[in-house]
Amino acid sequence: MQTTREITKSQVFTRKSLEESFPVNSQGKTLKVSQFFAENVFKLKSNRNFSSETQIEIQEVLAGTKPLAKDLAKTIADEVLKWALEKGATHFCHWFQPLTGSTAEKHDAFLSFSGERPVEKLSASQLMQGEPDASSFPNGGSRSTFEARGYTCWDLSSPIFIKENTNGKTLCIPTAFISYHGDALDVKTPLLRSMSALSEHATTFLNLTGLKDSKNVTATCGCEQEYFLIDKSFYFQREDLVMTGRTLVGSLTAKNQQLSDHYFGTIPERVLSFMQDSEIELYKLGIPAKTRHNEVAPGQFEIAPIFSDANTATDQNQLLMATLKSVAEKHNFVCLFHEKPFADINGSGKHLNWSLSDNTGINLLEPGSTPHENHRFLAMVAIVCEAVHRHAVSLRAAIGSHSNDHRLGGHEAPPSIISVFLGETIKNILDKFLTGDSYSHSEQEMINTGAGQLAQFLKDNTDRNRTSPFAFTGNKFEFRAVGSTANVGFPLTILNAAVIDVLKESNVFLREKIDSGSEITEALKDLTAKWYKSSHKVVFNGDGYSTDWVEEASKRGLPNLRTSVDALIAFNKKENHQHLIDLGIYRNRELESLYNVSLEKYNTCREIEFRTQKKMIDRIVKASAFQFKKDLTTLISSLKSISFETNSETDSLKKVSKILDELTQSSNKVEALINKDYSTEEEKGSSFTSEVLPLSEKVLELAGEIEDIVPDFQWSIPTYFDLLFVR
Ligand code: ADP
Ligand code: MG
Repeated sequence: MQTTREITKSQVFTRKSLEESFPVNSQGKTLKVSQFFAENVFKLKSNRNFSSETQIEIQEVLAGTKPLAKDLAKTIADEVLKWALEKGATHFCHWFQPLTGSTAEKHDAFLSFSGERPVEKLSASQLMQGEPDASSFPNGGSRSTFEARGYTCWDLSSPIFIKENTNGKTLCIPTAFISYHGDALDVKTPLLRSMSALSEHATTFLNLTGLKDSKNVTATCGCEQEYFLIDKSFYFQREDLVMTGRTLVGSLTAKNQQLSDHYFGTIPERVLSFMQDSEIELYKLGIPAKTRHNEVAPGQFEIAPIFSDANTATDQNQLLMATLKSVAEKHNFVCLFHEKPFADINGSGKHLNWSLSDNTGINLLEPGSTPHENHRFLAMVAIVCEAVHRHAVSLRAAIGSHSNDHRLGGHEAPPSIISVFLGETIKNILDKFLTGDSYSHSEQEMINTGAGQLAQFLKDNTDRNRTSPFAFTGNKFEFRAVGSTANVGFPLTILNAAVIDVLKESNVFLREKIDSGSEITEALKDLTAKWYKSSHKVVFNGDGYSTDWVEEASKRGLPNLRTSVDALIAFNKKENHQHLIDLGIYRNRELESLYNVSLEKYNTCREIEFRTQKKMIDRIVKASAFQFKKDLTTLISSLKSISFETNSETDSLKKVSKILDELTQSSNKVEALINKDYSTEEEKGSSFTSEVLPLSEKVLELAGEIEDIVPDFQWSIPTYFDLLFVR
C-alpha cells in the first residue's frame, strides 16, 4: 500500500504551472501594466470627480493643516461608495494592524434599507470610524474586558483599496486602532506620530541649513521581502509547518546551498508563473513590485517593490504578504514567511531600506558626486550614527521575535549587535572629523574590467556589506536585521524616533551656532564632528559574521542582546525607552502593554513549538524507530535461527537504540520544563531561551539522525528533500 507521502510525491511530480490571466482590454488585447496599475485603489488626491474646492480641502487635510470636516467626509464617502459599487464590491471593512503582528478586518455589507427599499450605503461616519470589540485583541493588560471599546479611525494618508476574492470584492479602508482613551492598540498609530514628529524636526533642520523651500519631510521605505515556497500537499502533512511555520524535525540534504546554484538562478517555471500572477494582483492594488529573484536557499525567493512613504510602505508590505500567501495557494504552493523554516540553511529577512526626502524632492541621504563637500549630507549621516549608537537597545528590541532569533547571529544574517556600515569613502571622510585632518578627494574611479568589449562605469561610493545589520547603501540606509515576518511599522517607528531624538538636539546646536555668528557650513561641520566623535564606535565596516567582531564589539561597549527576551527586558528599562515617551511617540501605558504583549507572544509561540515537536517526536519519529527496531529484531532472530552472521543488523539496532534513548531523555526534559510553573513571564522567557530551546534543538538533531537510519518508505512525513527539491 502506498503511503500518503508517496501519493503526494507523485502528485507533486506531475503538477503543471498555472496560467495567469493578464488583464485585457475590450478587444482582448493584453494591457500594459501602466494601464491597469492601481485600478483597485481609490484615488483621493487626484480624483477628477471632486470639485476643485474639494480637492484643495483634501490636500489641506492630508498636509495636516486642517481637520477633516464631516461635510468633506460625506462627499468623500459618497464618491468612495460610487467607485466601489462600480467595481462590484458588496462589503466594506476597516483594515488595521493590531499587536498580533498581522492585519485584522471586520466586514460590513453596503446593504441597508431606505424605508422598505434595499439600498447600498456608506456614511461619513462609517468611513471615518468603526468600533470593533477590542477585548479579544492582545492588549498586554492595558485594559480589562469591561473596558473593551476599541475604535478604528480612517488613515487618510494610506490609500483605500479593493480586495478581490473568487466570489466577491471588499472595500478596505486603512485605519488606526485605538482605545477608548486614545491609546494606540496597533502598530500604525505610533508610526504616524513618528512620521509627523520626524517631518517637523527634519524640516527645521533643512530650513536652518538654508533650504527655505522645505515644508515637510517624509521617511521613505522600501522592503525587500524574502520567502520560501513549498508544495501545498507536503505542507499539510507537516504539523510543525502548519502550527509554527518552521520544521521542528528534519534531516538536511547533502546538497543544499553550498554550490550557490540557486541564488539568482533561472526561476523555476511553476514559481515564475506564481510570481507573475502575484504581481498582477499587486499592480492592481497599486503596489509597484519591481524586482524578483531566487534567493540563496533552495526554495527561497525575494520580491521588492519601489519605495514609498513609510506608512504606505508598511501597509503595502502587509498587503503584499497577504497577496503572496493567497496567490500561492492558487498555485498549490504555500508561502512561508518564517525567518528560519529549515534548520541549517539560510532563513529569510526583510531588508528595510530607509531614507528621508522633503517636499522639493531632496533626499537627505544623497551624497552627490563630492560627498566630502556635502556638509548637510555628512551631518545627516552623523546624526543617524549617533541615533543608532544611542538607541541600539530599542532598535534591537524592534527587530526581536521568537522567530527572528533563529536567524540573527547565524551565518546568513547580521548578529544581534547593532552596528553601522558606512563603506570606505564615507567612513574615510568622517574619520577625518575625529582627527581634524583634511580629506583629500580622489576622483571617483572607473571600474577596470580588463575587457574592452564591456561598458565602462563608475565605481560606487560603497561596496555592499551583507553582514551589517544597518548599512549605508548609496543614498539610503538598509536595516537588514529585520525579520521576514515582521510588521515593519514597528522598526520604522523606533528608527524614526531614534533619529528625531538626535535631530532635535542638532537643531538646538545649529541655532546656537548660527546665532553666535557661525557660517552654516562651519556649524554643520561642528555638528558632524560632535556626533561622529560620540558615536563612531558603532561604525563597523568589517565582517559582522565573524567571532572577532563579537569580541571587538564587547571591547567597544556595544550591547549584544543575544535573544529577543534579553532585548525586551532591556528595552523595558526606562533609560532605553524614555525618549519615545518624551517625543510623544508612545505613551507609558502603551509601552507597558507592548512589552507584555511581546513577551507573552514570545513565550506562547515557543510553547506551541515545543509541544508540537514533542507530539511529532512521539507519534512519528519514535514510532518509526520502534517499528524499525521491531523489524530488525525479527530479522536478527531469523538470521540467528539459520546460524547467519548478524553484525550489521545488530550494529544498526544498537545505534538506533542509543539515539532513541538520548532523544527520549531530551524530549522528556523539554516537556518537564514547559510544564513547570513559572512565576513570571520573564522567568519563563529566560528559561525558554537558555534551557528549553537548546534542548529542543538537540531533539531536532537527534530526530534527524533517526530519520537518516530508518527506511525512507517507512518515514511518514515529507522530508527536507521533498519540501525543498520536489516541485
Ligand atoms: P538590493 O540590491 O539591495 O537587493 P533591491 O533593488 O532588491 O536592492 O531593493 C532595494 C529597495 O530599496 C527597493 O525597495 C527600493 O525601492 C528601495 N529604495 C531605493 N531608494 C530608496 C529610498 N531613497 N528610500 C527608501 N527606500 C529606497
Ligand atoms: Mg534585493
